Amino acid sequence: MGPVSRPKPTAAGAAARATAFRRRLAAWFRRSGRDLPWRRSRDPYEILVSEAMLQQTQVSRVLEFYSRFLREFPTLETLAAARPRQVREQWEGLGYYARARHLHAVAKHVTRDGGVPAVLPSHPDELRKLPGIGPYTAGAVASFAFERRAALVDTNVARVVARFFAPRLNPKRATDLKKIWAIAEAILPRSGKAGWAHNQALMELGALVCTARVKRCAACPVRGRCPSRE
Ligand code: SF4
Repeated sequence: MGPVSRPKPTAAGAAARATAFRRRLAAWFRRSGRDLPWRRSRDPYEILVSEAMLQQTQVSRVLEFYSRFLREFPTLETLAAARPRQVREQWEGLGYYARARHLHAVAKHVTRDGGVPAVLPSHPDELRKLPGIGPYTAGAVASFAFERRAALVDTNVARVVARFFAPRLNPKRATDLKKIWAIAEAILPRSGKAGWAHNQALMELGALVCTARVKRCAACPVRGRCPSRE
């Protein structure tokens, strides 16, 4: 199929497209979203561990490590009290050990005042002040643990948002990525709870359907209005 002609770019047209996108994506996620252990949790520490593990790592691989790591270090306090060697042992085989170091540093940071239980902040701006937490992870913890209305853009989300809303933008260019973040924020549902499912669904679409290697447009719930469909 050739390129699809785009509707006239009016504000009302853009809002209608965003609404249709959200609805179709949400319905698809209810039907097709995977049941993953971290999706059943709203515990900020468990979400943080899952996000650290999922960076540049396949879900199937993370599943092998996630529960074992949480059994060994079930809370921020237990992780903070661990020796670097113990943390490394539990991470061995997952790669990119810097992620474990950052996780350990976060646990130490939030437990340094001795408050029990230790708490992670819920606002993305506060989360970003913690060691090794960038804008994506801050948004993910705020949305997935605290159900705050927060955008999050990783490579999967950037690709989906660009292909559907702004095909001329290149997620690998910093200036374009900023615009993609702005779009991701603009298309968030109003409530943080709906935002949780919306963000999960965006990531899921990027992981399963609108992937870097292949566009599975025939199976895509938003193909009807997508200018990048094939
Ligand atoms: S229609 Fe194709 S290009 Fe558009 S979002 Fe879906 S999979 Fe991606």
